[in-house]
Amino acid sequence: RIVYVNGAYVPEEEAKVSVFDRGFLMADGVYEVTSVLGGKLLDFAGHARRLDRSLRELGMEMPMSEADLLAIHRELVARNDVVDGMVYLQITRGNPGDRDFAFPPAGTPLTVVLFTQSKPGLADNPQAKTGLRVISIEDIRWGRRDIKTVQLLYPSMGKMMAKKAGVDDAWFVEDGFVTEGTSNNAYIVSGGKIITRNLGSDILHGITRAAVLRFAAEAQMEVEERPFTLAEAHAADEAFITSASAFVMPVVELDGQKIGAGAPGPVAKRLREIYLDESRKTAV
Ligand code: PLP
Repeated sequence: RIVYVNGAYVPEEEAKVSVFDRGFLMADGVYEVTSVLGGKLLDFAGHARRLDRSLRELGMEMPMSEADLLAIHRELVARNDVVDGMVYLQITRGNPGDRDFAFPPAGTPLTVVLFTQSKPGLADNPQAKTGLRVISIEDIRWGRRDIKTVQLLYPSMGKMMAKKAGVDDAWFVEDGFVTEGTSNNAYIVSGGKIITRNLGSDILHGITRAAVLRFAAEAQMEVEERPFTLAEAHAADEAFITSASAFVMPVVELDGQKIGAGAPGPVAKRLREIYLDESRKTAV
């Protein structure tokens, strides 16, 4: 695999990042994951915009133009022959040359790393037909979940808790309300309405979420952006998640109890189709 590190395209074995890099020592960095379908990037502009925001919220600046960023994404997709898969991008506060809690002086170059992951048949994931089983776990993440940082230890632990419970994923719950999934936004369908938590600092502002809510409104589907309780989720007609790599994925079981009929519901299925169709049209 050819990866990108600070301006150079190199074989992954030759890629180097300092042991003093703040991403490595302090999880002081942000990331984006952009899906590739048919060799093209989905929702690229949305991911670039959120990256810019994540960096600014942490006092960093986009180290290149959006056009240059797109060119690197495309170059990696081409060099690695990615048809379906994703491009991972990470920008950290760089290497101050020593370990120090204080931020390095302005002008310290940021570390920019990108690599690809091939996932043949990504859009035909068989899980879309069966749906995911999830458990709920307490949300003990930090208070700025709207910033897409590489501080992913608790979400990783959440995935492991799900694995141990024999299911696919976990939904975080705070004060009785569902926030989001370990790596996705969470939705229920109840009384014909699509309900998902409103944007704030307690969830990541999903790029797929924004697109799906736009398509839902265009299709005259009713959407309510508000926190919903775990009890509401248990009693819902359907549930689903969204993310750049899962697109729209039905959820059929929560904490060992079936949601609705215990099978992917019509709203999730329809939104998945619309999302895949529409986002392919604007892929770059
Ligand atoms: N919420 C969390 C915590 C995530 O990690 C992610 C994606 O990684 C999402 C939501 C979905 O965001 P997006 O649709 O931009 O992939």
